[in-house]
Amino acid sequence: MESLSGIINYNNKITTLVANIIYPPTCVLCYGQSKTAIDLCAECYVDLPHRQNLHCQRPNSLKEVNRCIAPLNYNSTAAYLIKGLKYHNRLAYGRILSHILAECVTKEVTWMQSNTNTQAIPIPQCIIPVPLHSSKIKERGFNQTQEIARIAAKMLHLPIENKSCVRILATKPQARLTYTQRLRNVSGAFAVIGSLPKCVALVDDVITTGATINELATTLKKAGVQYIHAWIVTQAGD
Ligand SMILES: [Zn+2]
Repeated sequence: MESLSGIINYNNKITTLVANIIYPPTCVLCYGQSKTAIDLCAECYVDLPHRQNLHCQRPNSLKEVNRCIAPLNYNSTAAYLIKGLKYHNRLAYGRILSHILAECVTKEVTWMQSNTNTQAIPIPQCIIPVPLHSSKIKERGFNQTQEIARIAAKMLHLPIENKSCVRILATKPQARLTYTQRLRNVSGAFAVIGSLPKCVALVDDVITTGATINELATTLKKAGVQYIHAWIVTQAGD
């Protein structure tokens, strides 16, 4: 006799199949029919600004980050998806960004496991979405970096740690600031209030100068974290 979970699984598949026939998945970029599970058609996926080299080169500004990767460049399409998630609560956009980050992170982890030169840097034990200040969470209703971290966390069976590290300063947006102003703006913005493992991965939507990620990494290292990965969806400014 079939198990209960097998029957539920089968029923869920039938429900999804029927829902897909009645409401076929639509690509959020061209409104054409999407054949993927992420509301994006194959053509629009290919047209995204995929980076050839996933590794982010910010040697001067990412001093406290051991490895930094980003799958996309920040062009107008990437900006549309990120802003749609952040400012218009479009969670489907978050699923797309999360899926793309997870693909990149899976490649990174597979490469790290097979490359003996990277043995000194361990694979992260948890994922920390870059924290938002409580006033921003109240205004937006959610932290977009947590949405972006979700699929990578699931695929890699890593916990999302969103309690032990907080943003204690409501900083100005970094976009219009110079590098020096950015450094000053985020200085002292984060605090660790719980225990963290030896190696963590930070997740964010955009990296420009790296000032925010490096400030967070500095705070975590002062609190005893030894290795820091940064997994960012898009890199701007290249
Ligand atoms: Zn499309």
